[in-house]
Amino acid sequence: MAFDYARSARYFLLWDFLVGFRLGLKYFFAPKATLNYPHEKGPLGPRFRGEHALRRYPNGEERCIACKLCEAICPAQAITIEAEPREDGSRRTTRYDIDMTKCIYCGFCQEACPVDAIVEGPNFEFATETREELFYNKEKLLENGEIWEAEIARNLELDAPYR
Ligand code: SF4
Ligand code: SF4
Repeated sequence: MAFDYARSARYFLLWDFLVGFRLGLKYFFAPKATLNYPHEKGPLGPRFRGEHALRRYPNGEERCIACKLCEAICPAQAITIEAEPREDGSRRTTRYDIDMTKCIYCGFCQEACPVDAIVEGPNFEFATETREELFYNKEKLLENGEIWEAEIARNLELDAPYR
């Protein structure tokens, strides 16, 4: 008896259809792997390296002591600092700029800072319409610190055992 190729092909097609249909049903009812961004956002780890911020102490004093370690270590040469001693002898920056168009988000500035002043916070939504808006100055960085301080402090605390 001759082999019925047409009939075998029909069986294979039916089998493929059933396998595909079963897979379709399985994933139709499975939890969704995608998020409806920007209305939904995924979790971020405490080491997430987002937008930079300069922090203050709880009494409002700037943490940065103008040691310039962050400026020296930055591989992209994105940080520019100028500093002067104050009347009380303490040293503080008079200029602290980060060119965010140069930054490669390596996190070296944060790692080098002895007083946890410059940090990469959890904010990743800071796209701008112009290039100039990405030239951050001290005022902008301190403002970021005020906005994100609670999250930054919590992330640093969570990461502390591993530093
Ligand atoms: S994250 Fe890296 S590249 Fe960006 S400012 Fe800090 S040290 Fe420079
Ligand atoms: S941010 Fe930190 S590392 Fe950079 S100058 Fe200030 S104290 Fe030094």
